[in-house]
Amino acid sequence: MTDTVDCVVVGAGVVGLAVARALALQGREVMVLEAADAIGTGISSRNSEVIHAGLYYPTGSLKARMCVRGKELLYAYCAERGVPHRRCGKLLVATAAGQLASVESIQARARANGVLDLQWLSRSEALALDPARCDAFYAEVRKYWPGLRDGALAP
Ligand SMILES: Cc1cc2nc3c(=O)[nH]c(=O)nc-3n(C[C@H](O)[C@H](O)[C@H](O)COP(=O)(O)OP(=O)(O)OC[C@H]3O[C@@H](n4cnc5c(N)ncnc54)[C@H](O)[C@@H]3O)c2cc1C
Repeated sequence: MTDTVDCVVVGAGVVGLAVARALALQGREVMVLEAADAIGTGISSRNSEVIHAGLYYPTGSLKARMCVRGKELLYAYCAERGVPHRRCGKLLVATAAGQLASVESIQARARANGVLDLQWLSRSEALALDPARCDAFYAEVRKYWPGLRDGALAP
């Protein structure tokens, strides 16, 4: 081992490893220091594994720009390296007419952030998309809004 090194990265989670990789690809000598017994044993290995779309961050913010660009890079990386993943999408659901404006404003913000693959679905279209999961979802919704009248959520 040498006495000097170009770069030292502390922490071998997803961020540290990505930084170390980028530095190494630039031709720099990199040392990664990790306190745990193995790499990727922190939060990075215990998260929800969602590749976020970039719907919510304030338009123009660093988070919004990094999220949208990072998502594209991550999908490309996974495809190139054969890393299993699913582009399953997600449903944002208005459970009452009063929530439609909120969903519309999320949609407008997402578009402004460069998230263009959004689709407006009716309740029946959403149910047709994934009936099993929608049923489970509506069962959960009922738990939190027990006052919902029968049929309010029916397709
Ligand atoms: C419950 C939960 C769910 C999440 N779900 C998602 C999701 O679905 N999608 C998403 O994109 N993000 C999600 N996140 C966020 C995401 O997991 C984190 O932003 C990301 O993993 C952070 O990576 P990291 O490399 O910064 O941290 P870590 O993965 O925690 O890595 C830090 C590493 O540094 C090491 N370390 C710390 N101090 C030292 C030291 N002094 N010397 C040497 N090593 C040290 C630690 O041992 C660790 O290995 C979620 C977070 C949480 C908590």
